Amino acid sequence: MPDEIIPLARPNITEEDIQKVTEVLRSGMLVQGENVTKLEDFIIENISTSYCSVVSSGTAGLHLALIALGIGPGDEVIVPAFSFIATANVVELVGAKCLFVDIHPKYFNIDEKKIESVITQHTKAIMPVHEFGLCSNMNEIMRIADKHHLYVVEDAACALGATFGNKYAGTIGHFGSFSLHPRKAVTAGEGGLLVTHSASLDYRIKSLRNHGIEMNSNPMEFIIAGLNYRMTDFQAALVLNQIKRLSRILEYRKIVANAYLEKIKNPNIILPDVPDYAEHTWQTFHVVAENNRRRDELMTYLKRNGVMSNYGAQCIPATKYYKEKYELNAEIDYPEAYKAYTSGLAIPMHEKLSEIQINTISNLINRF
Ligand SMILES: *Cc1c(COP(=O)(O)O)cnc(C)c1O
Repeated sequence: MPDEIIPLARPNITEEDIQKVTEVLRSGMLVQGENVTKLEDFIIENISTSYCSVVSSGTAGLHLALIALGIGPGDEVIVPAFSFIATANVVELVGAKCLFVDIHPKYFNIDEKKIESVITQHTKAIMPVHEFGLCSNMNEIMRIADKHHLYVVEDAACALGATFGNKYAGTIGHFGSFSLHPRKAVTAGEGGLLVTHSASLDYRIKSLRNHGIEMNSNPMEFIIAGLNYRMTDFQAALVLNQIKRLSRILEYRKIVANAYLEKIKNPNIILPDVPDYAEHTWQTFHVVAENNRRRDELMTYLKRNGVMSNYGAQCIPATKYYKEKYELNAEIDYPEAYKAYTSGLAIPMHEKLSEIQINTISNLINRF
């Protein structure tokens, strides 16, 4: 057995972060209070958006965005074929239909050149995913959306702090949703942030996340069928303290990614690529082996040598529910997404990785 195990990811929580949480717990004000408002204001200021709603998860944010846009039965939403399953699930849960589109083989994002061919008169929105923290080609996506009168909901779950040109991920479409799950750079345990430039959409979101209540009404009134997608105030305090370190966290991840890109030189392993219009957050460093068998062998070999790895995301049309409901053959219809899913793996990426560990991992992959 190796004497050291290098984990895939590690949440970065300091004693000070913990202290901020206990302060809120001692105050007795547990749900959606001043720390939630402070976190919303911090996001508005730091990523140049107009409105922000703190919610209970990234998935909750995406779900609320689709409800607020009135997307439902009879409507279609364009979704990349390779993403975390939540992106498609929220479309299903509002009663709409997913239109899957294949991805770029090295960016792992929706292939914008394949979007227009799937649009029909029922299509209402595009949900680009900034996979692993790299922005999709938002110029092209916004151009297509404008031309066909579609909404754009950015699944920016992994992309807090990522940029596209001079704009931040999540602030380009009608909505952007970020996740605060422990696998992301900043975490609430479970949590999310939903941003928009529209005052009326934001009003609807703040009502929908809180049972459909009319904001600032007296007596209390309910104007829409809402949900409870609020976050606790102690979680917001945790995020508010961590998020001050976000630029440092992202800088370190970039150093790790650049080291991998330089040191991994195995002709059978495809490394990720970054277009010059984007700044990556490197939430995940995803490499692709020759085929499914070699990927599995690589994972086993890394594990035997103390290095943890995992699947990066799903080829959604290849999962049981979507395959059966939509009668799709992902291997033929979405070959790049299928390859990324069956042959791809995420290798360790976190702020506690040392240079020695990065060298160990790179050398192991080179010798594979
Ligand atoms: C993490 C993630 C989500 C879900 O976020 P949660 O906060 O766990 O609900 C959705 N989409 C993508 C692309 C993700 O990576």
